[in-house]
Amino acid sequence: MRELRAWFRCIRGCEGEYPLEQVLYHCPKCGGLLEVAHDLNALKERSAAEWKQLFDARMHTNEWPFGSGVWGKKEWVCPGIADDNIISMYEGHTNLFWAQRLGADIGVEDLWVKLCGNSHTGSFKDLGMTVLVSVVKQMVANGADIRAIACASTGDTSAALAAYCAAAGIQAIVFLPRNKVSTAQLIQPIANGALVLALDTDFDGCMAIVQQVTRDQTIYLANSMNSLRIEGQKTVGIEIVQQFDWQVPDWIIMPAGNLGNITALGNGLLMLDELGLIDRLPRLAAAQAEHANPFYRSYQRGFASQERVIAQTTLASAIQIGNPVSYERAVKVIQRFDGVVEQASESELAEAAARADLTGMYCCPHTGVALAALFKLVARGEIKSSDRVVVVSTAQGLKFTSFKTGYHEGTLAEVAGEYRNMPIELRADADAVNQAIAARLSGK
Ligand SMILES: *Cc1c(COP(=O)(O)O)cnc(C)c1O
Ligand SMILES: [Zn+2]
Repeated sequence: MRELRAWFRCIRGCEGEYPLEQVLYHCPKCGGLLEVAHDLNALKERSAAEWKQLFDARMHTNEWPFGSGVWGKKEWVCPGIADDNIISMYEGHTNLFWAQRLGADIGVEDLWVKLCGNSHTGSFKDLGMTVLVSVVKQMVANGADIRAIACASTGDTSAALAAYCAAAGIQAIVFLPRNKVSTAQLIQPIANGALVLALDTDFDGCMAIVQQVTRDQTIYLANSMNSLRIEGQKTVGIEIVQQFDWQVPDWIIMPAGNLGNITALGNGLLMLDELGLIDRLPRLAAAQAEHANPFYRSYQRGFASQERVIAQTTLASAIQIGNPVSYERAVKVIQRFDGVVEQASESELAEAAARADLTGMYCCPHTGVALAALFKLVARGEIKSSDRVVVVSTAQGLKFTSFKTGYHEGTLAEVAGEYRNMPIELRADADAVNQAIAARLSGK
């Protein structure tokens, strides 16, 4: 087989190929974002059937590094890296859950939830971070002077960066908006030994600072404008199709903030298409919180221009972003996939999460945003009852305890709490207990 190659190129089509081991985040010619390109002709030397067989054979094995959901697709992600330099915690291969009761409830029987939060640091950010940190490890092994990796984060990115850096023995630096991430999120980078800088600003403000700091080439930038992350994240779409035995669902819905992940989802699916593993594309839906909805607004105007907003506080803290970095990439993806952008209010996202929890899930607020979008698209008839629909659940609900307790205690702003369920405090008395049980079982 010919040697497989991948390189950075400009997403706007400027000429130039740059090695993945170069410290470069933007096109030197136009300043636009970069993307990772693959030598598709070399990849085509293996047939679609051979790729499927190879990927299936690696699933859940312990053969380093191919047992990882990301590195099991190494040839499509980052073929040039030495296996010894890969930093992996065997991310990916998360459960694709048949949401039977919720689906029956909304009249979409073929409803599935991809539980990406069941991952090492509790969110799907692990998929991208394993690639970025591995490339840095490779760069250091090649002699590059890189002292640290830095990111601005609403929580999950910093948790993933801190864990993968700790596993690699590289210092992580994380910039967080002060008082805007949950304690549960803050504690992960702290535990993993990151330098945690809590700034008096919002996510977009942290983003501006980290871009200044990483002008120093020895501090490597880990935000998703760095397209290495997108290469790892794109495996989620490939994995969903693989889990359906290489059948394409009709819809995939994902919560969206900085728009790197909806882009990645599209890129993975396009690669499946280009290499002949699938013969049609699903439709994609990007779901935004109404309090941070610049992409929704742009969509409403037919993407005539990029809208920017000052993001308002939202329970969906990981997508509280007013000026999304990957806007240009995401527009291309939504257009290519005949996609839609929907939004959810605080009330809609919280009620949707609680409703799904009552069918056995434990949804983070971002998953609530995606579910609320699903409910709206079904109600509008855009999603049909016969469609196979996948909702990407992006983080583990256990990271968002204050969201859950706030919901059930009835203390969340703008949320009525239709499905609240509080413990009943009783005397230690069998009659009182029997009464409480009887009342619940009779539905009163
Ligand atoms: C990062 C993140 C998202 C959104 O991804 P973007 O690339 O920022 O659009 C959604 N949900 C969770 C839990 C996240 O951490
Ligand atoms: Zn360019």
